[in-house]
Amino acid sequence: RLRDYLEICQKPNKTSDGLPFSLRANIEFEAELQTVKKYCAEGIGLLRTESIYLRRDFDDIDKQKSFYSTILKQTSPNPVTIRLFDAGGDKITGYESNDPNPFLGNRGIRWLLNKKELLMQQLRAICEVAANYHGLVRILIPMVSTLEEFKEVRNLLQQTQQELENEGISIDDNISLGIMVEVLNVALQADLFCTEADFLSIGTNDLTQYLLAVDRGNEQLSHLYDQRHPMVWRLIKNVVESAQEADKPLNVCGELASDPVSACGLMGLGITELSMNPAALPPVKKMLRQRSLSEMKQLATDLQHCQTISEVDNVYGEWKEK
Ligand code: PEP
Ligand code: MG
Repeated sequence: RLRDYLEICQKPNKTSDGLPFSLRANIEFEAELQTVKKYCAEGIGLLRTESIYLRRDFDDIDKQKSFYSTILKQTSPNPVTIRLFDAGGDKITGYESNDPNPFLGNRGIRWLLNKKELLMQQLRAICEVAANYHGLVRILIPMVSTLEEFKEVRNLLQQTQQELENEGISIDDNISLGIMVEVLNVALQADLFCTEADFLSIGTNDLTQYLLAVDRGNEQLSHLYDQRHPMVWRLIKNVVESAQEADKPLNVCGELASDPVSACGLMGLGITELSMNPAALPPVKKMLRQRSLSEMKQLATDLQHCQTISEVDNVYGEWKEK
């Protein structure tokens, strides 16, 4: 099976009728780079940076820089999307241990904007490393819920670039700044966020929990937490329309993209860039290569029109049997 997978990975990223797509990897640790290469991911679509905290390196800009440069060197010349530190929620809670309602609390960009020195330091570390990279570096902001948050980060990024220039350090003018679409409001008002962001990345893990009001990690409620929910498909469609209208790149980096049938549904909605855990790359690629765009469009339409999860199950079952 491994040999089978490795063979698939060498083949072109095209649907059966020739539509190209990009598959990238979600990673958090250097050790994962091996699989990224083995399965021929076209770069990193989501670099989670919380490991910097786990290693207690968050205050040390040199250690941060060496983490980013290891990742970039191994990924060159493919694009790399570095997500700003996403503290809080189900992630590292050490910094803010008394948050009474972590998922609705001080997490992601909310937390970072209260810790500006750390945010500025992370932006600086990324900018310094990106300047020497022969490929696209993108910065992704987690847990955005207002346009003001985005604008504030944009200003801080510009300020950082200016400081570097003043110090005679070269900068990467092409660095782009995007937002995670993981709060319901952002998915609904995607047109507004598209006016400011350089790109969008849909995080279906959190988007689903904020849509359905179900804790993504609560096993007792796992029957209620399903990223394939028809309303998730409709929300994603809304985001696609806004991104296309504004001509902004859009990808999905949530777990939904790691499932082969769902990946076909996302392609059917018009999303040709998917990022997933590295192990999911071969099976996803295999199925995308076997089916045509018109079939995928029909799948996406069928999913949006389901009324219940058991109807969704049926659509998935039929698709697999085809
Ligand atoms: C998501 O929420 O879908 C996502 C990709 O981010 P994380 O799983 O790190 O919260
Ligand atoms: Mg998330």
